[in-house]
Amino acid sequence: MKQAIGVDIGGGSIRVSLFDESGNELKSNQSKTPDHLDNDSFLKTLTETIRPLLKDNIGIGVGSPGPLNSETGILLTSANMVGIENVPIKQTLEKEFLLPVFYENDANCAALGEAYFGSYKGCESQLILTLGTGVGGGFVKHGVLYTGYLGNGIEIGHTTSVIGGALCGCGARGCVESYFSTRGFLNRYFESTNTKLPHAESFFELVRKEDQVAKEILHFGTLALAHAVRGAIHLLNPEAVVFVGGITNSFDLFGEQLEKEIRSNIFPILNERLKLGKGRNLSGTLGAASLVFANKKV
Ligand SMILES: [Zn+2]
Repeated sequence: MKQAIGVDIGGGSIRVSLFDESGNELKSNQSKTPDHLDNDSFLKTLTETIRPLLKDNIGIGVGSPGPLNSETGILLTSANMVGIENVPIKQTLEKEFLLPVFYENDANCAALGEAYFGSYKGCESQLILTLGTGVGGGFVKHGVLYTGYLGNGIEIGHTTSVIGGALCGCGARGCVESYFSTRGFLNRYFESTNTKLPHAESFFELVRKEDQVAKEILHFGTLALAHAVRGAIHLLNPEAVVFVGGITNSFDLFGEQLEKEIRSNIFPILNERLKLGKGRNLSGTLGAASLVFANKKV
């Protein structure tokens, strides 16, 4: 059975796992990323974390937050890792390990992993939304990831749900992630109550306790998300729409309304065939390893 390495580069750590083609994790390793980073120290940590897992695999898949250039395999900058810039990830790993290396942003990796090993595997096409700090997305058709030109496509979180709406981290107004994401919920709650909540769980806890402000924010956010998904469904006509990410732990609080809003506002022909639901929330490393399995040439 073929095996591949998946690498998940996060803010504070690098996680690496070896998987077989069925998605079983065979081995894993991880490192903390050094406090004071430069390209060389980062790449050294990366290669040394991968090295112990090298035996008998067909390639290395790498995922990280963007912005990146998936074609040249360069991590351009990182909001979470200060001190690194234009890091040649693909080139360095290919030279070091003499294996094919595939590199995509982590939302794309999560989408591909979900499409290969998740709740709706086997569907012709899937639109996968990652609901977390922000809102990420990925589109997979016939097992192939649509990445857009140079790998920054399907940024569904920054499609507009509310014209002239709340200011988003990207600088624009009314993006769906200003209304439905950890950042969005906390900012909207602060705006209404002047109370800073520490994380999404505390927000959802308030919703469970029937806090009216939190309930209204979630209700409106769900409508905003439904509108964004509606637009994406009409653009892409996917067989399945799948929701993953930390916020889906509270799917019971919004899932039903979300599905109802989406289904009642799309063309009936699309609605009849559409599958929609919560994904399996697989690891970032499995998502990255699926980049290797997805590449038929390997
Ligand atoms: Zn935005």
